[in-house]
Amino acid sequence: MRRVVVNIARFVLATVLILSGFVKAVDPLGTQYKIADYLDALHMKQLIPDFMTLGASVLLSAVEFGVGICLLFAIRRRLMSKVALLMMLLMTAVTLWLAVANPISDCGCFGDAVVLTNWQTFWKNVVLLACAVVVWRHPLDMVRFVSYTNQWIVINYTALFIVIVSGWSLYDLPYFDFRPYHIGANIREGMEIPDDAEQPQFETTFILEKNGKRKEFTMDNYPDSTWTFIDSKTVQLSEGYTPPIHDFSLMRLSDGADITDSLLSVPGYVFLLVSPQLQDADDSQLDLINQVYEYAEDNDYPFYCLTASNRKGISGWIDRTGAEYPFCQGDETTLKTIIRSNPGLLLLKQGTVIRKWSHNRLPDEYALKDRLERLDLGQMPQDSIPGKIFIILLWYVLPLVLLVVADRLWAWSWWIEKHKKSNLVYQQLVKNKTMRKKIVAGNWKMNLNLQEGIALAKELKEALNADKPNCDVVICTPFIHLASVAQELEGSVIGLGAENCADKEKGAFTGEVSAEMIKSTGAQYVILGHSERREYYKETPEILKEKVLLAQKNGLKVIFCIGESLAEREANKQNEVVKAELEGSVFNLAEEDFRKIIIAYEPIWAIGTGKTATAEQAEEIHAYIRSIIAEKYGQAVADDTSILYGGSCKASNAPELFAKPDIDGGLIGGASLKCADFKGIIDAWKK
Ligand code: PEP
Repeated sequence: MRRVVVNIARFVLATVLILSGFVKAVDPLGTQYKIADYLDALHMKQLIPDFMTLGASVLLSAVEFGVGICLLFAIRRRLMSKVALLMMLLMTAVTLWLAVANPISDCGCFGDAVVLTNWQTFWKNVVLLACAVVVWRHPLDMVRFVSYTNQWIVINYTALFIVIVSGWSLYDLPYFDFRPYHIGANIREGMEIPDDAEQPQFETTFILEKNGKRKEFTMDNYPDSTWTFIDSKTVQLSEGYTPPIHDFSLMRLSDGADITDSLLSVPGYVFLLVSPQLQDADDSQLDLINQVYEYAEDNDYPFYCLTASNRKGISGWIDRTGAEYPFCQGDETTLKTIIRSNPGLLLLKQGTVIRKWSHNRLPDEYALKDRLERLDLGQMPQDSIPGKIFIILLWYVLPLVLLVVADRLWAWSWWIEKHKKSNLVYQQLVKNKTMRKKIVAGNWKMNLNLQEGIALAKELKEALNADKPNCDVVICTPFIHLASVAQELEGSVIGLGAENCADKEKGAFTGEVSAEMIKSTGAQYVILGHSERREYYKETPEILKEKVLLAQKNGLKVIFCIGESLAEREANKQNEVVKAELEGSVFNLAEEDFRKIIIAYEPIWAIGTGKTATAEQAEEIHAYIRSIIAEKYGQAVADDTSILYGGSCKASNAPELFAKPDIDGGLIGGASLKCADFKGIIDAWKK
């Protein structure tokens, strides 16, 4: 039930974020204008240059879309759930401010596609915030659609896609146009107010005086003439119906005439070059603009430049471009709404928008080779909304679906391969229900004093109590920590081990610690054969053989380390080396005792160096180790033996390593000294 709720919340959140990110990305200028409105409300507009608000617009849409997609595919579940929660907290706070203070009338969360009132937006965000909380509480309940190893493809493809959508919409025009001046819209009809439309409501109060006393009246209780009128005030009670286009007007600059009506009712075509501010307009295509004007002149189509610039701005443009066309003046916000390009070109036919061009995609002489009546250009384009949606699906969803399918096929073929390779494991699993353990073991080495060690153990215990691991977790500490850490770990899922033990049972061996002593602290494990002990303390296979026997005699589980040096790897001797190490110290054990051994393959060249064996290199040698165990003790024992990898294992590479069929976990040095790092590796088993 919980999973169902989490997944519903995740889909709701993902859908809204994807939609709102996408509608912003197709209209980056619109989002930029909205950001400018917010800055204006905060009296900060003058402080932030336009390129920054444009950058913020692209970034905002990319983040919203990207987080939505990550939630949809359940990518980086924990991180994304936190990011989504943070975003929703922020957005809810901003929209509460909008609803209460009303500094701007529309928050712009869905661009021009869906316009909500500020209170509607606030309540929408409250619902989304609740969804974000549910997802954040249980991020791992989100069902994955893409395997961990292929998530980067979706992330990168999504980022590329949304930035290209924004870039293309800036270069050309918004791919979807949700404004009242979209292609196909009739401007005259957009301005009409239906007869039955709701009228704005006003109430007037009158202040009158009699015998030195003032009182307020309305029309309903207006008093007789013995009262003297002093003042009146009128307040608007409701706004009434506002038509989609309510601020379109064309005032000819040359004579100040309002030509709105006449231009909208011209039976033929009209070109409108629209530039909110000519001083900011791009003049790189001025030859093309002048060519279109000449074409309009030759064919008797009216051509006007519509701008909010003052006379100085207009004469500057004329000087720069040699413009000969007439100018009309209009409202800047309206012009920005008409076309998202400065300048942009509009073709009207009897008041209906037939075509729109950004200054980067103006028609040239080849396109304008005949009268518009005979050109495709002069007809309403045929592209439909479903057709456009289909193209978007084709460019985004289809490649991703193909990717997911390929990913699933890959994962499936890998599973088949794994079970083919170890068919016996499969049978064994079904028969005995015995399965080798997944283990993450820390090796603190000679680090941390007693207090630091206890604190780390406590922190890890609390972290794992709150978020149960999917594997066995062991920490191996210096001898002096054992007894105290054992107490600290009481009641936790964490196992405790030593890093070494003596090769003698007891007696006059100053400075040594026996297996029995270790066991008496409450520890259950011991690391033996670590390369540092082999190298610095000259522990030979014979010494290790003794230690293993004594550890097992005292009931300790042995984590037995093997691994080759760099020189041995370069001479391709790794298989020989690990085989000799096993034969020298543990292959003497009876099957029953060998079953209790945990092997840790640690290439010496990867320990503490930051160099990790690649997952493929590690898998190859782990598979080899398992094969020689199988030769010695049989396949069933080999299949039940946990073989850990060690050597610069971190949270970032652990998932890839642990995904390999013969890698059953890790022995972790440096990264086990910080709770978050170690937990990150433990969590790799959840990915
Ligand atoms: C180790 O010494 O067991 C080890 C794996 O160290 P590190 O993780 O620091 O490479």
